[in-house]
Amino acid sequence: MAAINILIDEEKIQKRVEELANQIMEDYKGDDLVFICILKGSIFFTVDLAKKIDNNVHLEFMKVSSYGENTVSSGQVELELDLKSSIEGKDVIVIEDIVDTGHTLKYILEYLKVRNPKTLKLCALLDKKERREVEVKVDYVGFEIPNKFVIGYGLDANECYRNLPYVGYLE
Ligand code: 5GP
Repeated sequence: MAAINILIDEEKIQKRVEELANQIMEDYKGDDLVFICILKGSIFFTVDLAKKIDNNVHLEFMKVSSYGENTVSSGQVELELDLKSSIEGKDVIVIEDIVDTGHTLKYILEYLKVRNPKTLKLCALLDKKERREVEVKVDYVGFEIPNKFVIGYGLDANECYRNLPYVGYLE
């Protein structure tokens, strides 16, 4: 098995998730929220974040995939799993694991905007800013990271490593 270098340890992740939760509670006061968890990568982040928030958090799930190679985003995005409830008039926050080129979130945002949410914000645990190809405004960012292919805390390499409690990269 390849050696894993830890980039962000479990304690740091949990501390930052708590900070993000506090920021979200401050911004939305007691309002009900809809979290749209983008499967599969943001499942751990969504759950941990939602548990730290006192507001009612309704959970929705979407799954999208990019065509092309596994580790390279091609810019073409396809919807694999759609929302099950209307988001019209709701305060919606999209929860994403990582923003890389930005194509996935841009697609998701455009898709959701026309469903007329009251507000629509983005929250991403990780941001590889230097890789951005299209502009997306990420309202809540956990960590900016260097241009490395990361795994753990939901992120996979061929479906492995998702359940690591930290974010790391392979040697
Ligand atoms: P984007 O469309 O912003 O280029 O890519 C976003 C998606 O690509 C993420 O949701 C994630 O699924 C995948 N991705 C981008 N960078 C990484 C990475 O470093 N590790 C893993 N495991 N997936 C990544």
